[in-house]
Amino acid sequence: MPYCANCGKDLPLSTNFCPHCGTRVASAPTAAPRASERPMAAFILSLLGGIFIAIGGLATAVLGAALGALVSLFWRGAGALIAAIAFLGLTFGMIAIVGATMINSGLRDKVRTGSILVIVFSIVGGLFSGVIGIVGLILGLVGGILGLTWQQA
Ligand SMILES: [Zn+2]
Repeated sequence: MPYCANCGKDLPLSTNFCPHCGTRVASAPTAAPRASERPMAAFILSLLGGIFIAIGGLATAVLGAALGALVSLFWRGAGALIAAIAFLGLTFGMIAIVGATMINSGLRDKVRTGSILVIVFSIVGGLFSGVIGIVGLILGLVGGILGLTWQQA
């Protein structure tokens, strides 16, 4: 909720002047930014990064479970361990996707928070999600950095 810089009271979403004290609102609160004002490249790269990491995590979990069944002949619990690590990749990929949707909001603070989420969870998630995850890591990293350096038009 925006508030008046002069009297501190809550402001309606679309106003140029405070209804309580009449002070001009520095930057008129607006509705969701238009598509052209959103960091589109950052959003798309981040979204793809998150999807790649999530899919990579899922694929690694399946592969890990199969491989683990084999390895378990020698080392019990290996399959569960590999699947658990890959499941982390899936989860982190999902968080990166949430970050990407925050970037798509076009709201500066939300874009920044989303970008940080994307960068952090692309890195940690990408490492858990096999080869596809590495691709996701690169996409997410570039998307997150683009989001962080994005300047509102
Ligand atoms: Zn006021």
